[in-house]
Amino acid sequence: MNFDELIQKEEKALLRDLRELVRIPSVSVPGTGRAPYGAECRRALDWFLSRASEMGFQTRDVDGHCGWCEYGEGEEMVAVLCHLDVVPAGDGWHYPPYDCTWAGGRIYGRGVIDDKGPAAAALYALKAVRDSGAPLHRRVRLLVGCNEEKGSSCIRHYVEAGGEIPVMGFTPDGMYPIINGEKGIAVVDFRRALAPSPRSIRCISGGTAHNVVPDRARAELNWPEEERSAACALTLDGVRVTETAEGLLVEAEGQSAHGSTPEKGVNAIGRLLLALKELGLDGDSGQAAAFLADVLGEETRGEGLGIAMSDQISGALTVNLGIIRGGGEELSLTLDLRWPVTARYEDFADRLMGAMERGGFAGERTEGQDSIYMPPESPLVQALSKVYREQTGQEAELLSIGGGTYAKACPNLVAFGPLFPGQEMTEHQPDEYMEADTLLKNAQMMAAAIWELAR
Ligand SMILES: [Zn+2]
Repeated sequence: MNFDELIQKEEKALLRDLRELVRIPSVSVPGTGRAPYGAECRRALDWFLSRASEMGFQTRDVDGHCGWCEYGEGEEMVAVLCHLDVVPAGDGWHYPPYDCTWAGGRIYGRGVIDDKGPAAAALYALKAVRDSGAPLHRRVRLLVGCNEEKGSSCIRHYVEAGGEIPVMGFTPDGMYPIINGEKGIAVVDFRRALAPSPRSIRCISGGTAHNVVPDRARAELNWPEEERSAACALTLDGVRVTETAEGLLVEAEGQSAHGSTPEKGVNAIGRLLLALKELGLDGDSGQAAAFLADVLGEETRGEGLGIAMSDQISGALTVNLGIIRGGGEELSLTLDLRWPVTARYEDFADRLMGAMERGGFAGERTEGQDSIYMPPESPLVQALSKVYREQTGQEAELLSIGGGTYAKACPNLVAFGPLFPGQEMTEHQPDEYMEADTLLKNAQMMAAAIWELAR
């Protein structure tokens, strides 16, 4: 089935609606009552549900966490999952972030590609399928959440409140062709006590978030006065040691990258630890620094921790030492671990905790999501591959990624769109944009996909 003409006819309305949606600065914040993610997310959800209702779809507000509209009949339901919350605008925009600006064939605005453009396109895709009169054997539910950017508690709420689980579906919140594998993610905090000693850490800091490779880290050290100038002679890549009134200042520089691909960056905390080991601290500080330099250092595959593993589909387990803090009496750090899609956290958790315990660190997992994998022969991947092939003339290459998409929030989904291979990723950045053609193409692709899954 081809819905291209039906979509084409609605282009103006789609653009108008997207603009109305982008004009709502729906950053997810703590809220109360009917607005658990704040007044603006509430407004975005209201906007969406009333537009869907005007189109003639049945709608439901799930306690302000998320909402849905539905079309069709049948025992089974397929879902399209989008989100209406956005990350804050931030600095550096050349266009008003909370509006749609057309320039050079592009539409600029916060959320245009992530994920309001896809959400608006999905609404018109569903409308096109309905207007075509093509018979469906499954219901189609367009589910929109308001907390994707802050941990997807919106869809957790839906699932926990007994929301119907789709038999299959997709989320246009990743990229084309199809992301059928997403590594598991665990964020683990470790801490240990430190006792003072002559050559020790006064304070240490590096990193801002678990999922970013830190590009800067520093440590202030207690150091005997007569040994300071000799210590400043240390030469290590990206490390600088200088004298201070109390001792030494050690600064390390690395290169930032996303925490799901730590091998693409250089971890400044790792460099700092290698420098501290080289300097030769004593007491608890010396033991902790040398231990961390040995088991982590600049290494990204968990070899030093004894947890290295990999599979054919998604590659190697990765470790990012994202944050370090402390000095004085305590040292704490945060690891971001991502394991291959065919493994489970339990496969290496004991080894990880055991390895860190040997360095005096106690660990606690604070966040995480299991891996997901939808085999190539599954009906969902087969159907979406067919749609992609028909719509683009290209084979649908299956992707496995280290990052987590919205697909993790709800069972039986994969990420499908909205970016096509080779297109620039501007989500979360200033001047976020989507090609105007891509918006329309997404609506057409989604309509074809909805029909293929629900017919
Ligand atoms: Zn998103």
